[in-house]
Amino acid sequence: MAGCSKKTYLTENLAVDALLEARIRFVQNTSVAVYQCEDCGSWHLTSRGNMHPRLAKAMETGEIKKQSQAYFWEKKLGY
Ligand SMILES: [Zn+2]
Repeated sequence: MAGCSKKTYLTENLAVDALLEARIRFVQNTSVAVYQCEDCGSWHLTSRGNMHPRLAKAMETGEIKKQSQAYFWEKKLGY
């Protein structure tokens, strides 16, 4: 069961939350989806495959971009 070096998430929902968070905080992040690992049974992020609908929606509505900019300024201003 053990031995996965990737970051793990207990549920799909948590993984998708992390996926969106990653895209907001790290411009270079290319993760697009989540999958349940056959080795550890937990969920991981992946940059392969089809984009998760929640991420696609957040990109489409500009939510990722908006939050990303907000995060950038928070960091820059040291909040
Ligand atoms: Zn795993």
